[in-house]
Amino acid sequence: MKNKNNICPVCGKYPIYPPHEVCLDCYQRTKNNSGLDEALMEREKLASEGRVLHHHLIDDWHNIDMNGLGAIQLMGEYILDKIEDDEKHLWHKRRIRFMQDMVKELDMKYFAPATRQQIDDFAQASVDFWDGKIAIQEARERHLSMCKIVQKDIMKSSDWEPKDFLLWMMETEEVFGWMWYQWFECIHACIPDKYNDELWIKMFHKHFHDEIKAWVDK
Ligand SMILES: [Zn+2]
Repeated sequence: MKNKNNICPVCGKYPIYPPHEVCLDCYQRTKNNSGLDEALMEREKLASEGRVLHHHLIDDWHNIDMNGLGAIQLMGEYILDKIEDDEKHLWHKRRIRFMQDMVKELDMKYFAPATRQQIDDFAQASVDFWDGKIAIQEARERHLSMCKIVQKDIMKSSDWEPKDFLLWMMETEEVFGWMWYQWFECIHACIPDKYNDELWIKMFHKHFHDEIKAWVDK
């Protein structure tokens, strides 16, 4: 019996394969392309020399095999975060437009006490900044002003929180370091509520349909 909710949200072809949130085909493809095999071989080689290799991929896949591969995790970390930005930042501009669309849909509670108008204005200004319509000085001022509105303590380092999702839109590449290359993983970590899963999946397909399809058809 075909139930829409049992179909893999990545490829849309096969049934979900628990404990994963995706089908067996997508799970296997992700694992095969992840570099895990190389890491395991490297570990074996070192073990034969009496040395121990700690590799994040081995840990990650141990965790995934125990708890399942998430659909958002697959699309964010294993498809979209593998795409490289270019000199003109065309890819990042698309990431920012994705985020603009997301903040329109996400519950206001995540960015409280900012008003809907303040949130939308800030998101639009971020798009404008990345399109070169707003100078860096003005971007800094707007960023600082939004930090005050959402009561973000920039001196305090803490775990990421939903308001970071919004504030990051106006930050430059230099601010992020490694996070620049793990953008989707990081922004999803700001708002991990399972309650929003369908929204993330819908928006990924809306904004990055071609990239996801290319991965599925590969
Ligand atoms: Zn699938």
